[in-house]
Amino acid sequence: MKINLISDTVTKPTKEMLEAMMQAEVGDDVFKEDPAINALESRVAALFNKETALFFPSGTMANQTAIKLHTQPAEQLICDKYAHIYNYEGGGVSFNSGVSCKLVDGHRGMMTAEQVNAAINPPDFYHSPLTTLVSIENTTNKGGGACWDFEELKKIKAVCEDNNLKYHLDGARLWNALVAKKETTQQYGDLFDTISICFSKGLGCPVGSVLVGDKEIMQKALRVRKVLGGGMRQAGFLAAAATYALDHHLDRLADDHQKAKEIGGVLEKLSFIKKVEPIETNIIIFEINEEALSADQFLKKLLENNVHIIGMGQGKLRIVTHLDYSDAMHEAFLKILKKL
Ligand SMILES: *Cc1c(COP(=O)(O)O)cnc(C)c1O
Repeated sequence: MKINLISDTVTKPTKEMLEAMMQAEVGDDVFKEDPAINALESRVAALFNKETALFFPSGTMANQTAIKLHTQPAEQLICDKYAHIYNYEGGGVSFNSGVSCKLVDGHRGMMTAEQVNAAINPPDFYHSPLTTLVSIENTTNKGGGACWDFEELKKIKAVCEDNNLKYHLDGARLWNALVAKKETTQQYGDLFDTISICFSKGLGCPVGSVLVGDKEIMQKALRVRKVLGGGMRQAGFLAAAATYALDHHLDRLADDHQKAKEIGGVLEKLSFIKKVEPIETNIIIFEINEEALSADQFLKKLLENNVHIIGMGQGKLRIVTHLDYSDAMHEAFLKILKKL
């Protein structure tokens, strides 16, 4: 039995999801004539209390489009030093939008409103780039699946309003935060100008992300998506998977979170583990005490037991629980860990 915990993107569509996909009513989405896509977009827009939603082939493209909508070349956005848009989108912020990132030294991928305020360049000081956008991530990926305090997000919103900045949420794993903190999509929709969400992570779809925002700001999104090569034709087969996931795979995220906490509990008791970061959702980041065992040796031992996890650099390792990590795998994995 192979136990793959490198990411929550490794899931394959369930039989029921595949059946829902096969039954999708499709058309050419570049002409906006795909009923399954149109239904998903309306549903997600309504969930977030926004006027418009647009389906994307990846979360990266949805984020990159949002950044393009909110900025002009030579401007600057503010994000945490751990941000996915800065670390893991191939430098797209500068390539696609000609924008630089002011990095904030936050905690587990999360900044305070004070830090955001201090990172804004004075708008009349024309030597520095003009700050026009703040982008945050919930849950934080590199921050170990941490969830924001909603009150802090509201304070950052106030800073954005005072300084005429747009506010984007990279919500690739927002579903996990909503389940963990018992928050609602509407709450987030009311706060942010744009939100990207992924269906290809915890929700178990093969492909798909959505960007939501109000009509005015989203007007250009269709054009930007086209420029980035993201206009797809009978993509309703993919939208049907996302619709299925909204109906059937949301509440079960709590199960991934529970399993992650149990894995963390076992890791903490192992003599060669130096530190396990707090576990709030489905991501576990931990460090090995390399005097006892190197991280590479630990990964190798797991591989010998058919368990796959990955390193995050700087001696940190990551485990992510997901839809295809079954109860039987969980039981087997905990046993393997205890025996190491
Ligand atoms: C996965 C992820 C994305 C999008 O990644 P894609 O692979 O392009 O779908 C964006 N932000 C965060 C925080 C992510 O974890």
